Amino acid sequence: MRLIVDQELCISCGACIDVCPEVFDWNEDDKAHSIVDEVPVAVEDQANEALESCPTDAISED
Ligand code: SF4
Repeated sequence: MRLIVDQELCISCGACIDVCPEVFDWNEDDKAHSIVDEVPVAVEDQANEALESCPTDAISED
């Protein structure tokens, strides 16, 4: 599974990074982005939770 963050939709709330820091982190524009090419199986549940927790639906599966 690969997740991407739509930079236009991200409002920098930090929810995804709180829920799944193994996959999401801030970028130089203070928006969230994915820091892995493939979501590790061990954190898939947290990654899906992060996807669902995004208030603007900025995270999607690639
Ligand atoms: S949860 Fe959504 S809006 Fe909030 S930082 Fe993550 S991608 Fe951006």
